[in-house]
Formats: sequence, C-alpha cells, structure tokens
Amino acid sequence: MDAMLQNLAWCPKLQIELAEAQLKKFCKMSKSLLRLLNYTHSEDGKNSGYKPSDILSAARQRNSIFNGYHQQDSFEMFNTLIDGIKNEMLQLTKENDSDVYGKSDEEIIMGTCSGVRLFFGTFVTEFKFSSCKHVECVFQRFSSITVPIVQSEHKHTKDKNNKKSKKLRSSFESLTGVERGMKNGLMNTSSFKEEDFPCTQCEPPRTGGICKRTMLILEPPSIMVLHIDRFSENGHGGVVKRNNLVTYPESFDIVQFCSKATEVIGADRRLFYNLFGVVAHSGSLNSGHYVAYIKTTHRSSAFWYDTMNRLWTDPEKRKTEVVCKLEEETSHYNSEYENKGSPIKEEENLDDTDWYFISDDYVKPCKTTEAIDNQNAYVLMYERV
Ligand SMILES: [Zn+2]
Repeated sequence: MDAMLQNLAWCPKLQIELAEAQLKKFCKMSKSLLRLLNYTHSEDGKNSGYKPSDILSAARQRNSIFNGYHQQDSFEMFNTLIDGIKNEMLQLTKENDSDVYGKSDEEIIMGTCSGVRLFFGTFVTEFKFSSCKHVECVFQRFSSITVPIVQSEHKHTKDKNNKKSKKLRSSFESLTGVERGMKNGLMNTSSFKEEDFPCTQCEPPRTGGICKRTMLILEPPSIMVLHIDRFSENGHGGVVKRNNLVTYPESFDIVQFCSKATEVIGADRRLFYNLFGVVAHSGSLNSGHYVAYIKTTHRSSAFWYDTMNRLWTDPEKRKTEVVCKLEEETSHYNSEYENKGSPIKEEENLDDTDWYFISDDYVKPCKTTEAIDNQNAYVLMYERV
C-alpha cells in the first residue's frame, strides 16, 4: 500500500485539485490523501515519518479486502482510492452546485472533478462494416490500462515464412514488453461475418461483408497508469504470480495505440508520455514485498490541464464527431497506419539523481536504470509531456 501511495504522492496536480475542492466531513478518502500530499511536499516531510493509517481506514470502509493484516494488492488500492475520491467529489458537487441537476454522474465527474479527471481517459471500440462502410462506436472510461504479459516470440522465428511477416515480426519484437502487451490487449482486431454481427444503421442489414472490431484509446489521460497483469487465475480457483521479465519504455509515443478519431479532440500527432513512478512487487504471491521508484524532479504539467480541458463533456456531440471522422477514414482506404514501427525516443537529459527508491520508511536516491529496467515492475505511472 505504501508503494502505491508514494506514487500518488508525487502527482502534484492532485494536491492542487484536492486542496481547491472545499472538502466536507464525509470526504474521508480525499482528505486523508490530501494530508499525505501536503505532508510529502512540505519541508517538515523531510524529517519525520508519516503513517497513512487514515487512508487505510478510509480504504477499508470502501473495500473489505483491506481488512486484516495480510498484504494488500497495490493495484487494488489504487482503484479503491480513485473510486473513493470520485464518489466523494460527485456527492460534493451535487450538494454544492445546483447547475448539475439533471446531468448524468459521468458528465458531472468529467465537468467538475479535475482531481479524478487527471487519471481518466476513454477507450473506443470501433466496429467497421466492410459492405456499407458504416462505423459504430462504443465508448468506455478508464483510469488504468491492464497490460497482458506477452511472451517474446524468439522461439518461433525459425520457420521461414514470407519476408513481409518476418519484417512485421521484427518490428513487433523491437517494442518493449509493455508496448507488445498493449498492442495485443488493445489493438487486437476481431472479425465477424456481417450476418452474425449486422450493422444497425442499414435497413435491411447487408450481408456478405465482414465487421472488424478494434479497441483503441480515444482520449489519452493526463496521467496514464499501466497495470502489468502478473496475478492471474490458475484455473483451480486460485491466483498465481507470473514473474516474467516485462520491459517498459522510459518515454514513448502512444499515438500507435490511439484511434484515428483522437484528432477530433484536438490531440497532436505525437502523444508523448514519460515514466515518473514504478511500483514493483518482489517475491511470491503471499510473501512478497512492494517498493516504489519515484522521479521527484519538477515535471511538466502544462499539458495536463490542456488535455483535461479538451476532454469530452458533451457525449452525444462527441459520438457523432468520432463516427464521422472514422467513416471518412474508412472511405479513403489506407494501410499506412497499420505498422508504424518502433516509437522514437524523446530527447531529454535524464539525470541519474532524479529517481528515488522507497521501501517502507527507507528512502534513497537510485540510478535511473534501477527504475526503468526493473524486472519486478507491477504498476507504471506515466505523465503526458
Ligand atoms: Zn451500415
């Protein structure tokens, strides 16, 4: 739990947003997190310890898995905290602001709760119908992305397939494990016969073509939390930990995982993110230990507000815009987008002293490589730059 809190404590914009929210007595989660943020960024914080027991008690009220003294899943803690703040902010806004009457909870949160919006992005699932060129979209809000562990395909490179597939494979392998996982998890396209999955706009529905379904990022969040899927079901009702080495980028362009319609929200052609926090889990399922790596230097946050201000506030209007953009793209067929190869690294001076290693009460500066090349990485925090 401490390792995740350390990461959140280094999201300074979260502190500003929570401080401005005029929290009431019932906002236990937000208040306790704000106390931690204030403590971390004050001068006294350098000398004495801080026990986040009030955060734990607020988490226990929301999620019973945090009762007792066994180890808590750091990612579960993140979800409980974000969900807690979201619900408190929603209630607070409803009590204070009569303008929100009649709006959906979703609209209220996206319109008024900046502290939570920092972490939120939107996925779009695109359904493209080949015979009528119609596009249908389903939107889904997210506060983190779960990245499946993808085995490296080195073993299979022996078979001599045609050159094209070899080329595709090598560009796939030049990506980090996290990027490969995102490609497999997000961009995996499934195809259906139109008979089985008809277009709802055509009456009667056409047949004979195919419907392709792909999930992509539509609205990139200001802070992107990636969760490496290490704890999985073993098929007998239990959970196993997978200790595979999963590499991840220090800096990357996520345009490769985004919908063509991302342009509709005014996003640039390059969407760069830098790593600023790592939660690592060493050991086994029951006897492991969490540590955190944090980049503490002053970081760019201008984009955060910029991104948030462009975020979707009128769902119906946005839906129409997105579908229009995608149908336009589908009509001039182009494949240039399919395989862009490996991302370019952001040119930046990354000083070794930027990173700190934190294990419970123990804090020390560490080398950048310890943070960016950690084989126990479990949750990664990236910020938009
Ligand atoms: Zn149609």
